[in-house]
Amino acid sequence: MRYYSLNHNSKDTSFKNAVIRGLAPDRGLYFPNQIPILSKKFFENIEHISVPEMAFQIIKPYVGKEIDNKKLLSIVTETLDFEFPIVQITDNIAAFELFHGPTLAFKDVGARFMARALGHFSKSMEDNTTVLVATSGDTGGAVANGFLGVDGVEVIILYPKGKISEIQEKQITTLGQNITALEVDGVFDDCQEMVKAAFLDPSLTKMNLTSANSINVARWLPQMFYYFIAYRSLKNKNKKLVFSVPSGNFGNICAGVMAQQMGLPIDHFIASTNSNDSVPRYLKTGNFEPLQTIQTISNAMDVGNPSNFIRIQKIFNNDIFRMKKIISGYSYSDIETKKSLIEIYKKNGYIADPHGAVGFLGLKEYLSKQNKDHYGVFLETAHPVKFIDSVEKILKLKVQIPNRLKSALSKKKSCIPIKDFSELKSYLLN
Ligand SMILES: *Cc1c(COP(=O)(O)O)cnc(C)c1O
Repeated sequence: MRYYSLNHNSKDTSFKNAVIRGLAPDRGLYFPNQIPILSKKFFENIEHISVPEMAFQIIKPYVGKEIDNKKLLSIVTETLDFEFPIVQITDNIAAFELFHGPTLAFKDVGARFMARALGHFSKSMEDNTTVLVATSGDTGGAVANGFLGVDGVEVIILYPKGKISEIQEKQITTLGQNITALEVDGVFDDCQEMVKAAFLDPSLTKMNLTSANSINVARWLPQMFYYFIAYRSLKNKNKKLVFSVPSGNFGNICAGVMAQQMGLPIDHFIASTNSNDSVPRYLKTGNFEPLQTIQTISNAMDVGNPSNFIRIQKIFNNDIFRMKKIISGYSYSDIETKKSLIEIYKKNGYIADPHGAVGFLGLKEYLSKQNKDHYGVFLETAHPVKFIDSVEKILKLKVQIPNRLKSALSKKKSCIPIKDFSELKSYLLN
């Protein structure tokens, strides 16, 4: 498979180069030259093959011969080495729990796949690769955990001092080995600006710097697996499947739409957002007008200008009417999100997290306009414990902290404080 830049000002490239570079030289996002279509037989048989075998067949056309079959199968097997339960909430609604990975965030799957793919490619390179990533919370933990101990790859995580939760901070500052945390005296946007500046700085270009956020094809594409896994379990319901995806940067929902384009029978997608509603507004007005980011209680979706939206537009050839047939968009305030958390708990006995609660709202709104032959799944993208302060306060209860988090909490934080780009640069050059 070849990948081209959506800015159309760079040459197309291999999977390996797309993974190593992250962004194309013209700063565009990479997109595959074609979307492969899986055979009818694949879908007829899907429940009779294992999840890793299924994932292998899905991702294989995107990787081509650049990773041999045996290695690729072992990469997807390790990537998906945990549970993906579907929990029935009402007659026609289920929560699809994507948070059973090592850092309790759905980003684990993409980060684990990318770490293994990049680790594989960097074996054939002379110099180390340095992954530079800014985090507002969940990305840092998933990336750090995915890359821990991967030979030939150094990971540097920038996070805003005092602006992430204690659990999140411990997940990135207690690992050691090839993971370094830089505590930035500023906000998330400062961290992101510094990372961008590093990629543009001529004195750093010889450093093999790459990014590990969802613009990287190796983090984005494996998210397709979720939708196939859900379909595989729900196929025998013989209902029209609808997915509600709590969306921020729109990588996850974009992967879902890709899965559908590959032939996966999904009837509809719902882009559920918090007050950062650029996409629901676009679907209403036809104008894409990103606004300043607004802070909310579902903060992993606090994105004013979602970077993966351009890939969704590409899939529909910039035709909003085609897009609207497949995607609906709804946005909810924090007050509505809190009410939703309470409703899911009181009526259905399920403790959601604020992101899942937004997904639930979008799903209910969509289903209320359909007839009864639909089955709705909302993605639960984080364990409620990752947003323990909000969840405990809103539901007035104590959330159990899983054991694997307790061990990180008891370790000592280790990080390097930095103030500005010049300090980051001198750190990188040493
Ligand atoms: C990252 C994240 C999202 C948003 O996913 P996108 O792919 O950026 O749309 C939603 N929920 C949680 C908990 C996240 O960490």
